[in-house]
Amino acid sequence: MAYQRYANVEVDLGAISRNVRTLKGMTPRATRFMAVVKADGYGHGALRAAEAALRGGADRIGVATVEEALELRTAGLKQPLHVLSEPPATAAPLLVEHGIIPSLYSLAFAAALGAAGSAAGVEARYHLKIDTGMNRIGVDAADAPEFAREVAAIGGIRLEGTMTHFATADVPGDWEYERQLERFRDALLRMKTERVDPGIVHAANSAATILHPEAHFDMVRCGIAIYGLHPDRSTYGKVDLAAAMSVKARVARVKRIGMGEGVSYGFTWHAPAPTTIATLPLGYADGVHRLCSNRMTVLIGGRPCQQVGRVCMDQLMVEVPRGLEVRVGDEAVIVGEQGGAAITMDELATHAETINYELACGFALRMERRYLSS
Ligand SMILES: *Cc1c(COP(=O)(O)O)cnc(C)c1O
Repeated sequence: MAYQRYANVEVDLGAISRNVRTLKGMTPRATRFMAVVKADGYGHGALRAAEAALRGGADRIGVATVEEALELRTAGLKQPLHVLSEPPATAAPLLVEHGIIPSLYSLAFAAALGAAGSAAGVEARYHLKIDTGMNRIGVDAADAPEFAREVAAIGGIRLEGTMTHFATADVPGDWEYERQLERFRDALLRMKTERVDPGIVHAANSAATILHPEAHFDMVRCGIAIYGLHPDRSTYGKVDLAAAMSVKARVARVKRIGMGEGVSYGFTWHAPAPTTIATLPLGYADGVHRLCSNRMTVLIGGRPCQQVGRVCMDQLMVEVPRGLEVRVGDEAVIVGEQGGAAITMDELATHAETINYELACGFALRMERRYLSS
C-alpha cells in the first residue's frame, strides 16, 4: 500500500484482542464484556477495534452516538450494539430498525422508543441509566425505581439492563466512589421492590474493572484499557496491557544551523551552539498538541531527540543529538518503540497537560492509519 504522507498512526489489532482477553480474565467467568469503541475507537478505528475486541472475547460493543452505531451495523457487525447516552427521540425509529440498544432516562424518549417499537411490532431493548452522583446523565438514583416502573408500563419496549457510571473509579480508596456504588445498589434493590427486574447490571469502566471487583456486576464496559492504555497511573502494575497505537513519521528535511539561530514561529528556541535540526511532517492538526512545544522528545535511530521551537500545524522540528547521523527518510517515533527505547502516550499526555484518551482521539484527525496484527 502506498502512503501519500510520511506521518501515520500504526494500530496493532492483536494487542487489542489480547488486552480484552486479559481484562476479561480479571472478571468472573459469567461476566459479560462490552468493548467501548466510541470516537472512532478512541482514534484506533471503530470497526477494526470492535472486530479485534470481539476476537478477544468481547460480547457487546458500546458507542456514544447513533451515527457511530449505524456505521458499525451497516459494516455488518451483528453483536449487540449500545449507545451509552440517550439519543434524541427522533432517532427512535432508526434504533428499532437496526436493533441498536439505547440508554434511557427520560419519559419523552421512552414514549418515542415505545411508539417506534410498537409500529415495528417489536419490543425495543433499552438500558436504564441511573445517575448515582456523577451528575452528568441518567435518572436520579432516588427517582430511578419509580421511573423504571412507569417506563415498564409502556408498550413496545423492554428493559434489558440497568447501568451507572463512576466519576472517580480511578482514585483508590475514594469515598465518593463508595457512595456512588452504595446508591446504585440501593436503587437496584428498590427496583426489585417495585417488581422491576434490572436485567443486566453494569457500572465498571476500565478503572473500575481493574481496581474494583465489587463493581463488576453482570457486565463491564472497557474503553481505554482495550487499547492498552491505562485509565490512570493508579492502574500501573495492576494489569499487563499492550499499547495498540504508535505514531510514526519520516524525517522530511535535515538542516545544519549556527549558534543563535531561531527555530519555528516566534523563535521560542534559539540554538545555544551550532546544531542540526530535523523537520518532521506532522503537527498540531495531526494531534501533537502545541503545548508539547519545547517539551516533548521523539525517537530517531533509537535515541531521544528534543523537540525545539513551536509545534506548527503540519510540522515540528527536533534537535539531532551530537553523534547521531540523520538523513531525510529516517523513521521518527512520536509514540511507540524504536531500538529498545520507548515514548508512551502517557509521557506525551503529560507534556500536553492532558490524558492519553484525548491524545489517542486526536491522532485520528488527519493521519492515515496502518493496521498490523502481532
Ligand atoms: C466511555 C465510557 C466507558 C469507557 O470508559 P474507559 O474509561 O475508557 O474504560 C464506559 N462507560 C461509559 C458510560 C462511557 O461513556
